[in-house]
Amino acid sequence: MTSPRIAVGGIYHETNTFAVGTTALDGFAAYQYFVGDDLRRLAATRSETGGFLTALERAGATSVPTTYAAAVPSATVAHEVYERLRDGILAAIADQPVDGVLLTLHGAMVTDGSPDPDGELVRAVRDLIGPDVPLAVTIDLHANVSAAMVEGTQAVVAYDTYPHVDMFERGQEAADLLLEVLRTGRERHVVHRKLPFMTAPGMQATDGDPMRDLVALAHRLEREAGVQVSLAPGFSYADVDCVGFSVVVSGDDARTATQAADEMAAAVDDAKERFVYGALSVAEACAAAQVAQDRPVILVDAADNIGGGAPGDGTAILQEWLRTGGRGLVTTIADPESVAVCVEAGEGATVRLRLGAKTDDQHGEPVDVTATVQRLTDGRYRHLGSYNRGYEVSMGRTAVLDVAGNTVVVSELKAMPFDAQQLVSQGVDPAAADAIVVKSAIAWRAAYGDVAGEVIEVDTPGICTSFPDRLPWSPERAAMLPHWTLRAHRTTQHPTDSTTATQRAEER
Ligand SMILES: [Zn+2]
Repeated sequence: MTSPRIAVGGIYHETNTFAVGTTALDGFAAYQYFVGDDLRRLAATRSETGGFLTALERAGATSVPTTYAAAVPSATVAHEVYERLRDGILAAIADQPVDGVLLTLHGAMVTDGSPDPDGELVRAVRDLIGPDVPLAVTIDLHANVSAAMVEGTQAVVAYDTYPHVDMFERGQEAADLLLEVLRTGRERHVVHRKLPFMTAPGMQATDGDPMRDLVALAHRLEREAGVQVSLAPGFSYADVDCVGFSVVVSGDDARTATQAADEMAAAVDDAKERFVYGALSVAEACAAAQVAQDRPVILVDAADNIGGGAPGDGTAILQEWLRTGGRGLVTTIADPESVAVCVEAGEGATVRLRLGAKTDDQHGEPVDVTATVQRLTDGRYRHLGSYNRGYEVSMGRTAVLDVAGNTVVVSELKAMPFDAQQLVSQGVDPAAADAIVVKSAIAWRAAYGDVAGEVIEVDTPGICTSFPDRLPWSPERAAMLPHWTLRAHRTTQHPTDSTTATQRAEER
């Protein structure tokens, strides 16, 4: 086949079904939304789509851009938004002959019309292209994989890393697998195993126990059995059927792929008791941070995880820090109302604000502060680190405030703290802080891992809480929680010391 034509596109959303409101088209437009040739701009990024485009070009294939849209993780997506994005992809594929399709999915999207729109999209593409055109997809390690997402594909490739730093490589891998199917004409079998339990994001880091061992096994199976193995511990803040831990294996021999999937699934099941998460109370954590030697201390506000759909306006740590007279803290708060007050007052002005905690009643109380507006910006920056390097993102209008010797970066839009440019672009030096609040579970390490001193997991309130029995699950999902919940609670009963809660959980 001379220069195969490969359609490229996708819809990327991690939906927190406990978040208030609905994600509309502007949520995608404000983050990543590319239609037609514009999508080729992603070739300059270390994203999955960048990996697709690069691998296709290297192989002499012709890429056919369709639509790619991603929003920052957030509430349930309006179904008509999904339909519009889907129709954009389908129309572009229908428009011209294609020899294969590559889709970038997150794999944990939920709409108000469907618990599994990712699976519906895969099926719709398969129905359009017919049985003989190969289709490969990439998914996030936090995908809640459904049977429909797997059926009808030739490969489902998940990230191997959390923090996620291998999107580009996984995009290339999926493209290479697709091209191999085209070149050899060999069938590819995809096997999916679901483990019916959920795990805390704070225990899913791929350089820690137990994920490190599981990823190592996946790679060994890939080498020895000649298969592709994807592990997706899943996104635990979605009250839908397909939530949970998945193993997906693909290969050109059905029996080998099945054996590898079963071995991998058994290893995951054996490891489930090792996903033990622990955290200090907000007061314990702030006290520990204020006397810590190894700075900047990272205060992990995982319950307000912006990368998990939380609003990024949680105030629990800031409130306690200010109450105890702490200085040298750096935190972000998404709060458009406060930004408007700061913009009105101007740089250098002193303002009184009711800061944060306005999206819902799950993330603390607004904090009354007197602040100096140090800097006002448009909140735009470009990722220069290891997470989707090249992505251009915007926090909307942004104010850098001094609040009693602490730095609060207040923005109109929430932005995932996955790149140090979020602070550096605002004139804030993370290395010079005494403590940094990260509204993230693990992925913050891609931004601040190299400057981090002591790391303290903090039991803040929020919809990404690592103590999930606080969330209003439907009864059928509640059965998947118990061991995670009970063990996590037990670790909070330890007295404060300067060792991180996670370390102590590991020592036990
Ligand atoms: Zn993820």
